Amino acid sequence: MPKPWGPTTTAIHAGKHFNPTRAVTTPIFQTSVFELLENREGAEFAAAIEPPAFYTRWGNPNSSEVEAVLAELEGAERALVTASGMAAFALVFEAFLKAGDHLVAPAAIYLGTEQLIRRWEAQRGLTVTWIQNTLDLDEWAAALRPETRMIWVETPSNPTLALTDLAAVAALGKKHGIRTVADNTFPSPIHTKPLRFGFDLSVASATKYLAGHSDVVAGVIAGSDADVVTCWHLTKVMGPTLDPMAAWLLHRGLKTLALRVRRASDNAQALAQWLLWQPHVARVDYPGLPTHPGHEIAARQMETGFGAMIGFELRAGLRAGQCFCEALEVITRGVSLGGVESLIQHPASMSHLKTAPEVKARLGISDGLLRFSVGIEDQPDLIADLEKGFQAAAEAR
Ligand SMILES: *Cc1c(COP(=O)(O)O)cnc(C)c1O
Repeated sequence: MPKPWGPTTTAIHAGKHFNPTRAVTTPIFQTSVFELLENREGAEFAAAIEPPAFYTRWGNPNSSEVEAVLAELEGAERALVTASGMAAFALVFEAFLKAGDHLVAPAAIYLGTEQLIRRWEAQRGLTVTWIQNTLDLDEWAAALRPETRMIWVETPSNPTLALTDLAAVAALGKKHGIRTVADNTFPSPIHTKPLRFGFDLSVASATKYLAGHSDVVAGVIAGSDADVVTCWHLTKVMGPTLDPMAAWLLHRGLKTLALRVRRASDNAQALAQWLLWQPHVARVDYPGLPTHPGHEIAARQMETGFGAMIGFELRAGLRAGQCFCEALEVITRGVSLGGVESLIQHPASMSHLKTAPEVKARLGISDGLLRFSVGIEDQPDLIADLEKGFQAAAEAR
């Protein structure tokens, strides 16, 4: 039952009815199986959708509780948690695409999602149109074909922070009967609720902001009852179930989601503005800056801030980028994002070192690009750390 609660009250209280004990914090039901009180119950639970006390691949109080919270946060009828973000995406593909279907997706996209799509192209006969400029609605409209079955968006996108107009793309999907799916990892439901703009599904890597402490890998699918139950039937036969301990950690992280995300976004807004004035910086990509090409859309569809991911480009390129990262002490080198700690990545010398130049160009990855996941640390400490990075980058030349 939807309640008019804010995100923090929701995260703390929404799934409470799944806790059958008096413990204020739901215990971890670290069990694969539950006792059946009567034989009849065995038959009932085996046929039920997500029975919370049968066998953990079907469901578990910890996953049911966190799903209730995530559904409320996304404004969805139902949510399903999975063993990782990629498991969630693979389930959505498996559930809603088949050989010969056509998919529309942005060219600059999370690498794992691109690899999933390429695998479907090579092995499952999927055809794909890649959108180059996600701001261009004509490009989205022109990409649609009679056999288009899914439109995939990321907004803001990984790694370029490009924006997509969710309401406009959802309207295109509705008009042509195409399922629309948003990877909502970057904004989290605190900043963007894709279903509110007419999207069918909001999916995410819960590993990032939702769990928020870089200590758990998880994924989520949120949408209509019918769509999420379709995915649940697939988890039952394919098995990417979230472990009870991981579900519990995810729920614990969600209780501070709004606090963490707002603090990190405030930090990011201040740092993006500060970075603009640094002489070694050629460009800053942040949707909260009026200079960002997607700023107008971001201002319209993002609430309470613009997220905590910043891309910025050093004038001096590859070697400077490497030295910059290696000089940092507070900001940690790492590929992930969305945790309480700030993380930085230099794609050209790290994740994309072996990527072909033309692919890097398509993904918007230049030699001096740094991808910065701003954490919740104290702003002066982050600025002092970045200053160290700039000094090292200057000396590298
Ligand atoms: C991390 C990430 C994923 C994949 O999620 P996992 O939990 O690592 O499987 C998907 N999309 C985006 C935008 C991500 O950042």
